[in-house]
Formats: sequence, structure tokens, C-alpha cells
Amino acid sequence: MDREAPAPQAYTALDRAAERLLGDNFPKHFGTGWFSGLAGVLLSFGSFMAVLVFRYPHWLTISETAPRYPVETMRLLLALALMAGFLLSATSLVLRPSKRLGITGLAFCLAAIVAGGSTVAVGEGQAAFRIGLDWFILNLVLLALVFVPLERLFPLKADQGIFRAGWTTDGIYFLVSHVAVELLTFFTLLPATLIAQALHARFSGLNTDAWPLALEVLAVMMVADLAQYAVHRGFHRTAWAWPFHAIHHSSRAMDWLAGSRLHVVDIIATRTFTLAPLLIIGFSQQALYIWLVIIAVQATLNHVNIRFDVPVLNQLIVLPRFHHWHHAVTPIDKNFAVHFPWIDRLFGTYHMPKGEWPEETGIDGDPVPPEFGRQLVWPFRRRRFDQD
Ligand SMILES: [Zn+2]
Ligand SMILES: [Zn+2]
Repeated sequence: MDREAPAPQAYTALDRAAERLLGDNFPKHFGTGWFSGLAGVLLSFGSFMAVLVFRYPHWLTISETAPRYPVETMRLLLALALMAGFLLSATSLVLRPSKRLGITGLAFCLAAIVAGGSTVAVGEGQAAFRIGLDWFILNLVLLALVFVPLERLFPLKADQGIFRAGWTTDGIYFLVSHVAVELLTFFTLLPATLIAQALHARFSGLNTDAWPLALEVLAVMMVADLAQYAVHRGFHRTAWAWPFHAIHHSSRAMDWLAGSRLHVVDIIATRTFTLAPLLIIGFSQQALYIWLVIIAVQATLNHVNIRFDVPVLNQLIVLPRFHHWHHAVTPIDKNFAVHFPWIDRLFGTYHMPKGEWPEETGIDGDPVPPEFGRQLVWPFRRRRFDQD
């Protein structure tokens, strides 16, 4: 008997509002002013935010990144982004019958120039707290410029647009997890350090000073993934914990933005228990920083809507197809690893049907509400085996 096709995932009110602001019904292929319009909005929005970061660095940069910026290079990049944003928006304005994208892009360009442009003076002052607007813009612009074109050129699901159902929800997760990075790091480092200190009395750690850096990074990845595997599987198999992680699985669409959908409890628990063993073992800061970059890139790549898979290599390192199976509606509870697929082989949760991708991703029955605000409170009220 044929299975009934699931109803398409609902668009949220915010999805529809964004659609009214930016969307239209004109063709979207190359040459219609659609891509130039999108890139124009992205770059001019990023430029405007960057000018704000220059003006108020004490509020809008995280203390990890702020002292490291080469200011003159950043000014040059800002000038180039602003110029490109202007030209692309103007191109869209000429090519596209609907002027929404072009006008939005030019409006952000104008706002960026009025706020000071690339010659804006760097502000000084003290702030009570800091938000990572710099971190958000850098990641948004870089990831969008790399992955949006790749998802258009080599799509896994060609009919899934950039603005699919729930994209604004994932956009809010992306925004919040980046601007609140300092707060999230604090709430992760504090418990992880306490755990590490408590255990140091019994275990004095390793001396990795003499290790080649590449070997140390590989060891960090292995320890981190083993710990992550345990926490991740725990989230899937524990009735009270599952709803917090169910948020991550609730998007039917897989793309570069979908991986951002993580409940704050999920983020803090997973990062704390992944970081603690790394601190106990005592890896160097340098190796940990390199691993942080690797995990950020891999966490994005694992979710992309790109038909990217390399036989043999996909046995050694997690590629998108492996993690897409983790998000499959059926079978569930497979492929928990983030870096190394052989960890799932080791523990009997490996699932990779040859050359196949899952037909459907998400959770059967869509139990999770689609909006960010409701997702924040939902897990506190739900259990895995609740009906409805
Ligand atoms: Zn999961
Ligand atoms: Zn995922």
C-alpha cells in the first residue's frame, strides 16, 4: 500500500512577512535579477551592521575577536562589500520587474553610508555586556556567500527554495546563537571547568606539548566526538531530554541554515559535556581553537542541501549524506557522530544504504511548533511518548 504523502510543513507568520517584504512571483533563474538582488541585500545589510560594529565595538564585538581585527583591512573589506552591495542591488533594480529586493538593498546601502560608511570613526567606551554582532555578520555573509550558490548549483532537493518553510525560525536561531556567543560560552565553560577541576584530583591529564599539532587536533576530534556521541544518543533515548533535542530534528528541510536550530538547553548540555573531557585531558588552546573552527564548518556542512558525497571518504569522515540519515523520519536513532562515522559502526548505530539519501527528513507527525518563541518553551511541557 502506498504511504500517503505528508502535508507540507507550514509557513510561519514570520516566513510570510519576509515573503511579502522580499518575495515576488517573477522567474528566479540566472539573469532575472533574483540572485543579484539577494546578494545585494545580504552585502548591504552586512555593511550596515558592520558600520554599527565600527561605531560601537565595545557593545557589538565579542572580547575574543575585538583585539584581533586588523582595522584597516576590515575598512577595505567594508568598502568593497558596500560597493558590491550597491552594484548588485542596482543590477537587480534594472533586471527585475519587482523592485522589492533592489530597493531594500539600496536602502541598507544608504543607511550604511549615513551611519558613517567605511571611513566611520572607531568608537570607544565601556559596556555592561557585549553581543557578538561582528561574529553574526562574519558568519552570515561568509556562509551565505559560499553555501547559497552551491545549494543552487548542486541541489539535493532542487524544488526546495532558499526561503522554504521555517527559514525565518532557523534564521533567528542563527542570529541568537551568534550574538549570544559570549553568554553561551560562559555557561558552557563554567560547568565544564568545574567538572574538569573536580576530576583533576584523580586524573592529572596528558602532556601533549610534544605532540605534532595535527595529531593533537585529530585526538581532540576523536575525544570530542565520542563525548558528543554519548550526549547526543542520551538526548535521543531519554524521554525527558528528547523534546529539547527534538527541536533540532523538527525542520523538514535540510540546508546550510537548518543546523542552527538547537534549543539552548541542547547547546549548553552538549557543549559542556563535550568540552569537559577535553579540559580534563588538557589539550592545548591552539588545538582547541582549530577544533572549534572545524566543528563550526562541519556542523554547517552536515546539513546542507547539496548532493555532495565521496565514496570511501564518507567512511572516514562525516559528509552530508551520513547526517541527513540522522535526520531521516525513518529509521530514527542512527548516525549520531559529528566527525567520524566509524564511531556509529563501533556502537551499532551506523546506517548508510549505498548511494541513497533519505526521502523525508524531520519528525513523523510534526509534533514541534514551528515558531522560535514557542519552541523555546515547548520542551519544558512535553515528553517523547506524549500523544498528539
Ligand atoms: Zn539528533
Ligand atoms: Zn543535525
